[in-house]
Amino acid sequence: MKFSQYYLPTLKEEPKEAENISHKLMIRAGMIRKVAAGIYDLLPYGLRVIRKVEAIVREEMNRSGAHEVLLPAIQPAELWEESGRWKFYGKELLRIKDRSNRDFCFGPTHEEVIVDLVRKDIRSYKELPLNLYQIQTKFRDEIRPRFGLMRGREFIMKDAYSFHADESSLHEHYEIMHATYTRIFTRCGLNFRPVEADSGAIGGDVTHEFHVLADTGEDTIVTCPTCNYTANLEKATSSQEKFVQKNSTGTEEKQREEVLTTNLHAVEDVARFFHVTPNELIKTLIYVADNEPVAALIRGDQNLNEVKLKNYLCANEITMASEEVIKKVTGGQVGFSGPIGLTCKVIADYSISGMKNFIIGANKADYHFKNTNFTRDFQEPTYTDLRIVTEGDKCPKCSALLMFKRGIEVGQIFKLGTKYSKNMNLTILDKQGKPTHPIMGCYGIGIGRTAQAAIEQNHDNDGIIFPMGVTPFEVIILNLGTQEEKINRAAEELYHKLLQAKCDVLYDDRELRPGFKFKDADLIGIPIHIRIGKKYIENNTVELVIRKDKHISELSLSEAIEKIHSIIAKELSHA
Ligand code: ATP
Ligand code: MG
Repeated sequence: MKFSQYYLPTLKEEPKEAENISHKLMIRAGMIRKVAAGIYDLLPYGLRVIRKVEAIVREEMNRSGAHEVLLPAIQPAELWEESGRWKFYGKELLRIKDRSNRDFCFGPTHEEVIVDLVRKDIRSYKELPLNLYQIQTKFRDEIRPRFGLMRGREFIMKDAYSFHADESSLHEHYEIMHATYTRIFTRCGLNFRPVEADSGAIGGDVTHEFHVLADTGEDTIVTCPTCNYTANLEKATSSQEKFVQKNSTGTEEKQREEVLTTNLHAVEDVARFFHVTPNELIKTLIYVADNEPVAALIRGDQNLNEVKLKNYLCANEITMASEEVIKKVTGGQVGFSGPIGLTCKVIADYSISGMKNFIIGANKADYHFKNTNFTRDFQEPTYTDLRIVTEGDKCPKCSALLMFKRGIEVGQIFKLGTKYSKNMNLTILDKQGKPTHPIMGCYGIGIGRTAQAAIEQNHDNDGIIFPMGVTPFEVIILNLGTQEEKINRAAEELYHKLLQAKCDVLYDDRELRPGFKFKDADLIGIPIHIRIGKKYIENNTVELVIRKDKHISELSLSEAIEKIHSIIAKELSHA
């Protein structure tokens, strides 16, 4: 491609609308332009990166035995009614009507459509396992679209759905997808981690998110520097020993007292009033789990993980209790709840086990109890893990200290079970000839998010540094003397030789100052730069510059070609 004929509008200024560095760089490098919140144009240079990511995804998905399909973006409401999601999917679902006033939606995901497809033709366990995937445009009316392609409303996703006759087949395929994702993100040149995530399933089956590590990532990842334990914040657990040992150091039980604490309900305020630290208080949080009130106890300095509470209770939904429910369950005012005399189920986090002489709400406006103790004052509750892990907690596997990192979720692999096959009546005959519902898995990758994450992770002050696997062009030739016939000839020759060798090459043949061309080349992040200028006139040499470290080698044209091929081959084979 010749730069002079290309549509690559680069910008010198920082775009005001951009919120993170990759977003800024994509606008400046002429890759994307905003149309509306979370909706973007992909320009030729941006589209090339998307196509490279897609090609890697396609190759690896095909290699795993999956088959590509292309399903419609617009889906009829009837399918979503069958699955039960038409009512429950919230405002993220863009609902539309056709001219006959029939309901449709713009697909945010494709479980319904794929089950509807497969149930038309699949009859027997012999036709399974089956994995169908597509690379297609989704729409989710995200509450806060931001960071360009990273959290768009319209975005390209690779989504795959697998069907299995039994659990072991799903498990086997899940591992294949895990390995496939690892290859995909490695080939994209990303520093990533597979991260354990909450499955929402009763029994807590594991699922994984794949995160690209970046300080600006939206998600917190909990990771152990010693063993390989890595989980997202919702899922992460820690060794409980630290609490149990610390709490049980308390000595003899003191007399319980009711104390007037006018208007004090925040933990910090109550602790200050009693001249103690928050870890000597127990918080009593009242929730409603599928219409049933429940009290969760946790130490004052800790925070409750609602996902863990929901999973422990096997609930479909949990919400914080209303004032009315709190009054009914505790007999007291909001902000002064305590575990004595509750009329609902009580569960507790490990953080309070072994505590002595602690402070709790008295279930009475403006009062707390001090010197409360288990058994004597109220029945010791059932303990489970309900807390949000904090940095420095001990790893649940090896007891080293856990660290927090930031990540961008680029993909997820998930065991879906039979929810959709059951609700939508997808039935096959099993080995015994009995009708059964296939077990499903689903596997997503955000194509645009992955492309942008590669930039978020690979840039410097001058611009993008594309990994070889996803770069729009592998080489840029910078003609630094467009008035010189000798330079023009050499540059053209190099350009054609590289094209012939199937190299992705951009030739900057524009009649512009060298400084201007250097700036653009650095900004758009092509990994190998060839500068042809004065030195070529003097001694027939060109400069080969590595964008990443700006290392320069002076070479003859033929040496440069050889070196280009060897760098590309080496970088692509590393992946
Ligand atoms: P998130 O938690 O970031 O909202 P999700 O869990 O809703 O993501 P999935 O339903 O698992 O996402 O979708 C699969 C993949 O699609 C994600 O791993 C992510 O890479 C991508 N993705 C999801 N939402 C968006 C979005 N709004 N913009 C761009 N990519 C997205
Ligand atoms: Mg996800």
